[in-house]
Amino acid sequence: MIVMKFGGSSVADAACMRQVGALVRDRLDQAPLVVLSAMGKTTNALFDMARAAEVGDLPAALETLAIVRGAHRQAADSLCEGAMPEALDEALTEHFGELELRLRGVALLRELSPRSLDAIAAFGERLSTLVFAAWFGVERVDARQVLLTDATFGEAAPQAERIRLRAAEVIGPLLGAGRAVVTQGYIGATADGLTTTLGRGGSDYSAALFGAALGASEVQIWTDVEGVLTCDPRVVPEAQPIAELSFAEAAELAAFGAKVLHPATIQPAVEADIPVTVRHTLRPEGAFTTITGRVATGRPVTALATRGGLTVLTVSSTRMLHQPGFLAKLFEVFARHRVSVDLIATAEVSVSLTVEEDVPLEPLLADLRAFATVAVVRDRALVAVVGERLKATPGLAGKLFGALGDLNVEMISMGANEINLSLVVAASDAPRALGQLHRVLMAEPLLAGSGV
Ligand code: ADP
Ligand code: ASP
Ligand code: MG
Repeated sequence: MIVMKFGGSSVADAACMRQVGALVRDRLDQAPLVVLSAMGKTTNALFDMARAAEVGDLPAALETLAIVRGAHRQAADSLCEGAMPEALDEALTEHFGELELRLRGVALLRELSPRSLDAIAAFGERLSTLVFAAWFGVERVDARQVLLTDATFGEAAPQAERIRLRAAEVIGPLLGAGRAVVTQGYIGATADGLTTTLGRGGSDYSAALFGAALGASEVQIWTDVEGVLTCDPRVVPEAQPIAELSFAEAAELAAFGAKVLHPATIQPAVEADIPVTVRHTLRPEGAFTTITGRVATGRPVTALATRGGLTVLTVSSTRMLHQPGFLAKLFEVFARHRVSVDLIATAEVSVSLTVEEDVPLEPLLADLRAFATVAVVRDRALVAVVGERLKATPGLAGKLFGALGDLNVEMISMGANEINLSLVVAASDAPRALGQLHRVLMAEPLLAGSGV
């Protein structure tokens, strides 16, 4: 079997869903499990509704609900060419009725727990799959029966072994050459049946989890780009498709801001040794990326990524730095405040670290300042240069810094796995840094034996 996952833009309206239908129909002999995201920006709209209800603005919440309902009804009507089956009509009414009740509850209590938010956010995938499965005439499995997670609402951790058992039990018997099965991405449930979500962008993760659980021969991520490109095309329009990517490179790119894949996607696929492909829904004949455990051949630098919203802390202590245990003491403070550190660079008397800009900084700083001075610089972005062959390419550092020209680099860190060189720059410099790096590093000739 294969897994075919379609992202929000691939199921945004009836025309998109028809294209998805055509792609699935072409691959029916491969026994596809179709994993769908919410239509277009539905998940954002659901978050907006929930937040409006939380502050007591029920009219605003219901207005957004009406827009979302309109979009789903319109898609269903258009797909069914005006003859919507009664069962679908009723199911839509029922879903929107339940959603409205939940919003009214939130507005009444002016309280939105992570648990309620997940129940509301899950409607996006529940609805898109409802419409698609009814129109396409295929079995729809509620992912919450299979994708069991812990109770960390908003970012639930999947329980692989239980998922495997449930998938074999619930989905396995439905799969077969000549037919498709549809289920939701992003959503799951706790053992006692409470709805959870895997975090924004989590449908990719669902696809990989289902693929691993069912022993898929391939997990296909269908989206709005021709595979993983050498950079986000919205930042660097000259970005080019990458034919082959290693799991490690893909994981680094995802973690460092390449939105094309959810950061955790790759892990279940790596463990099960299942290739993941990234393909363009509207250009199925175009270029695509295959991600496997092998080190692909290609350029010294495979791709660039960027992630903004960082704060740099430089912790200095002339007295302490050389003493054994200083770093342990430093990180103990971060651990105690539950602040995770991204990048680290050490110098003679100081350590620079990056943290996400939205972490509560003041209590952490107060504790750090008990034994060190701390300088805080906000509005920074990370620029990551990723490639399995980075370390084996002499002269790369010279080219890299040459490419940056007069741009100021504030911190540099080579990832311990040596496939990721990260630079910290002012957020406003990041697009220019990426453009300049891309121009120079991607002009490198392909290495011998290249598959690209
Ligand atoms: P989907 O809704 O299908 O999950 P996403 O919006 O999550 O799609 O991911 C696709 C988007 O990722 C692209 O439109 C592109 O702007 C962005 N992106 C960021 N970095 C890259 C990259 N290196 N290669 C391709 N796309 C990228
Ligand atoms: N619909 C969810 C989101 O927008 C999950 C996904 O699309 O991957 O975050
Ligand atoms: Mg996505």
